[in-house]
Amino acid sequence: MEVYETMNKQTIQDVNVQGKKVFVRVDFNVPMKDGVITNDTRVRATLPTLNYLLEQGAAVILGSHLGRPKGQRVPEFTLAPVAVRLGELLGREVKLAPDCVGEEVSKMAAELKSGEVLLLENLRYHKEEEKNDPEFAKALASLADVAVNDAFGVSHRAHASVEGITKFIPAVAGYLMEKEIKFVGQAVADPVRPFVAIIGGAKVSDKIGVIDNLLTKVDTLIIGGGMANTFVAAQGYSVGKSLLEEDKLDLARQLIAKAKETGVNLLLPTDMVVADRFAPDAEHKNVAVDEIPADWMALDIGADTAKAYAAALEDAKTVVWNGPMGVFEMDAFAHGTTAVAKAVAASDATSVVGGGDSISALQKTGLSDQITHISTGGGASLEFLEGKVLPGIAALADK
Ligand code: ADP
Ligand code: MG
Repeated sequence: MEVYETMNKQTIQDVNVQGKKVFVRVDFNVPMKDGVITNDTRVRATLPTLNYLLEQGAAVILGSHLGRPKGQRVPEFTLAPVAVRLGELLGREVKLAPDCVGEEVSKMAAELKSGEVLLLENLRYHKEEEKNDPEFAKALASLADVAVNDAFGVSHRAHASVEGITKFIPAVAGYLMEKEIKFVGQAVADPVRPFVAIIGGAKVSDKIGVIDNLLTKVDTLIIGGGMANTFVAAQGYSVGKSLLEEDKLDLARQLIAKAKETGVNLLLPTDMVVADRFAPDAEHKNVAVDEIPADWMALDIGADTAKAYAAALEDAKTVVWNGPMGVFEMDAFAHGTTAVAKAVAASDATSVVGGGDSISALQKTGLSDQITHISTGGGASLEFLEGKVLPGIAALADK
């Protein structure tokens, strides 16, 4: 299967769920502190799918993982607080099952009526979930008539609730999943041009596959962040004490050569903000890439580079951004990231932003609402950008 074929998947709007039991795989892996949810974004994000199914008269059975209980029943990782929070958000009772499989759970699922919600206990209390055990998948499938995948963030893993279950009951995409397929999938499969990708973040090694694949797709590829140092060094400049992956210098040279071959406009920093140490109050200055002092380190792209990057984004029609341009956590080194965020927000391109740190950098600028799509799944969105077919998406029914 090719990545573009994943564009053609059925969604909850393609199936009749009236009076049906619908298993929805959600990602309720929320941050918790002392049994209290500290951020409920992931729970809220599923509301459009859940409200739609309930309005259509489905009985909704939810499955999720939380934390890493590693196949054991670890009370710390109970979904009980999520059941309470979801109940408040939906304005209806959310029953919590004592487990995700077993006789009592089957009975609760069988008795569940149209418009009712049952949250199964943590799927990863069973090691069979991550092993994609067919018996376990069958037991989950036996609870419902239809499966819905709304957990993009785990769809790069062939787990029982994501992939195995689809062998026993028909499976379709929820609204969150549909958006990921539409925006991330569209960008890599059939982008409106000019297509500009911005890749940054700490290390080249985290995103080799993404850069390599994007070099066959984009018109312009912009590189920033710590990984840019390796590209700058690969061009023969000395980068002082900057974060540098020596073992990736050859690879960086190959990627530069590949850009030439594929005719991609590869933009690398021409100047950088360098600091005398890695600290918010470090002494810092803007220098050209051939003037990085031996005992200083580059912590942001420079002012000229930021301008050039912003200019390259001006008439883009598709933008994919993953990875900050500098150490944005420190105000002194956040300018490059802010400049790029503003340029992406100002362009009339379809824009997709992914990556945990990129999303928090974007939130810091207050420009999130000017982005077309913020991709939630870290690893899953990187694999999608690498052009891989995600098993959880491939397993959904075709239109
Ligand atoms: P994302 O989570 O968006 O995928 P990454 O995790 O790849 O992004 O990278 C984000 C991290 O990279 C941030 O913590 C940031 O401080 C760091 N970083 C960016 N530029 C540099 C740099 N020049 N030197 C060191 N670290 C950097
Ligand atoms: Mg990160």
